[in-house]
Amino acid sequence: MTPEAAAALRAPDHGWRAGVRELARLWRQDGRRWLLWSLLVVLVAVLLVTLVVLARRFEMEQVQRALERDNADAVVDLRHALSADAQRLRQLTAAAPSTDLWEMKAQDLLVAHPAWLRLEWRDAALHLKGERTSPFTSQPLAPPVDQTPLLAACADARRLGAAGFAPSRFVPREGLGVEVMPMCVLVVPGNGAPTYAIAYYALDGVLNHLLGEPYKRRQTVSLTEPDGTRLAVHGSPRRGARIFTSQQMLDLPGNTMVLRMDGWRAAPDLFPNVLTALVTVLAVALITVLVMLARDFRRRQQAEGELADALAFRKAMEDSLVTGLRARDLQGRISYVNPAFCAMVGYDAPELIGHDGPPPYWPPELADSYGRRTAARLAAGGPPRQGVESEFQRKDGSRLPVLIIEAPLITATGKHSGWMGAVIDLSEQRRIEEQQRAAQERLQATARLAAVGEMASLLSHELNQPLAAISSYANGSLNLLHGQEEGGVSLQDVRVALGRIADQAGRAGRVINSVHELARRGATARAAVAPQALVEAVLPLVQLQARKLGASVVVQVPAGLPDVGCEPTMVEQVLLNLARNGLQAMAGRRGERLLTIAAERVGGEGPRQWVAFSVADTGEGIAPEVADQLFTPFFTTKAEGMGLGLSLCRTVVEQHGGALDHAPNTPHGTVFRFTLPVAVPARNIDEIAV
Ligand code: ADP
Repeated sequence: MTPEAAAALRAPDHGWRAGVRELARLWRQDGRRWLLWSLLVVLVAVLLVTLVVLARRFEMEQVQRALERDNADAVVDLRHALSADAQRLRQLTAAAPSTDLWEMKAQDLLVAHPAWLRLEWRDAALHLKGERTSPFTSQPLAPPVDQTPLLAACADARRLGAAGFAPSRFVPREGLGVEVMPMCVLVVPGNGAPTYAIAYYALDGVLNHLLGEPYKRRQTVSLTEPDGTRLAVHGSPRRGARIFTSQQMLDLPGNTMVLRMDGWRAAPDLFPNVLTALVTVLAVALITVLVMLARDFRRRQQAEGELADALAFRKAMEDSLVTGLRARDLQGRISYVNPAFCAMVGYDAPELIGHDGPPPYWPPELADSYGRRTAARLAAGGPPRQGVESEFQRKDGSRLPVLIIEAPLITATGKHSGWMGAVIDLSEQRRIEEQQRAAQERLQATARLAAVGEMASLLSHELNQPLAAISSYANGSLNLLHGQEEGGVSLQDVRVALGRIADQAGRAGRVINSVHELARRGATARAAVAPQALVEAVLPLVQLQARKLGASVVVQVPAGLPDVGCEPTMVEQVLLNLARNGLQAMAGRRGERLLTIAAERVGGEGPRQWVAFSVADTGEGIAPEVADQLFTPFFTTKAEGMGLGLSLCRTVVEQHGGALDHAPNTPHGTVFRFTLPVAVPARNIDEIAV
């Protein structure tokens, strides 16, 4: 990877794109890079192979040259040896006064020269004068039958004044046979006719005895005819060895042969000399370096590929984020923003990155306090992990509430380089909250309206009783006044009746107020009222109705009961409703008609204490099918009933936190029972409410 690409990748700012572009360019270069690498490898391989081949060839040439040199020297040595032999023959023959003496000396010479098989002394006409055969052979060599080659050799000797040779011939001997070459020497004694001395060489012997040992130690030496027919050989070829061959003509008068040398080098021939070894070591080192380089290159390429993938993945991830990302250095300067953040505040990344001073998305009038807040947060060791709510200003001037969650930005080397913040736009959340709040308010208003509607129905129902009572008292008063006209009735009764009328009118007013309060706030003003007082307030009206129906009313409220916390008018209304229902249930029944209104304390030792009120009648009881819908508004079994009494009672009791239920009375009738909380001192109300 180039330094520019690496730098682009390291920088968490808008250099992402540059980094990705750089990587793409690198991928494009890949083809060319592979080509260059392949070329380098091929060139190095060719160079190394050439070096090795040249080194081997040089070495082989050296060996070949040494062999040629040996061969040439060997030929010269052979010539010298042959001419020395000729000289010896000449001396022998020239100094011999008689055949016997010649043969005696020849015998000595044969002992000293094992290469010779036979010596002959012949006269000018080549008639045999004397002869001797080698003592080293068990099969003496006979003179040749065909003397023509011998004649030619001796003719050469006479003509040249030097030794003449005849071509070799094969003589079977001792199973194998031997090539025999005659050498003829002209001897001209000072006082006599010229004679010839002839020596018969065994060609094997020539190689064995005339050729120096050093030649034969290192190579196989052989004598062949010019056409390649082998005549004699010394040494045997080595197996598995590399053969070098040298051939030199041994041109003798009358006989031309080839001296052939086959040299060998031991196999394997890998490190024959320092040069080859050096070249090989260098080649191996070079190839190793190349392989390591190639591996390193492949690893880097793999890493680059993975990095490119990771970059693409990260970029796709960041682009798809709806959360704004913002990185700041330790001085508070922005070093990176993602597209979501730019879209949120309406600024482009270059407008934000590296911006000195307060960021442009801070509302101008809040910039100072934001600056102080940021400095304080950083001084305190970083922003809180749970996030801070703030307000930003878009480029178009509009504002948006945001939640900022920041975390330390740690580099690959573990250095704290700044802060990475996730910024969440709260506008939508706020809008939804506002919508929900408005909907809630509308719902509450609707509920209140519904309650008002319900209360209106109740009101008409509840006002029936005070109005009926007023009407009764008014009629009673009129009757009294009428009686007074007739005389005998005291005004005192009328005053009492009028007082009751005034009470009922006041009560009707309070009912209206209570219902109004209930509809307006959902709860009426509470007061601590003694259960006795509640019962006594309704007792006159109950007794009025009971008297009409011929029923008796019993009140069982023990002294010392605690006050209950309630809205008294409504609770009195509940008691009145229950008493009236009880009286009406007993209306059609014969036998004892008894309505019992009782109160008692219930509940344990805990903070909440209750007083239970019960209204028991001895009526017909409630049929199961009626019991199911008892509290359903507008359910009634009476011709003139409205079916709202019990529904109202339950609403009122439940609003006080109590409960209303009913049970059969013994032996017959029904008991309605409801609870009210015991009033508590004002300072404890909150604790109990919690
Ligand atoms: P209303 O009295 O106008 O009919 P209520 O809601 O007060 O309306 O009563 C509903 C019905 O419950 C009555 O019609 C009656 O049938 C039954 N009911 C109420 N109280 C008693 C009772 N003490 N004994 C028998 N039935 C009762």
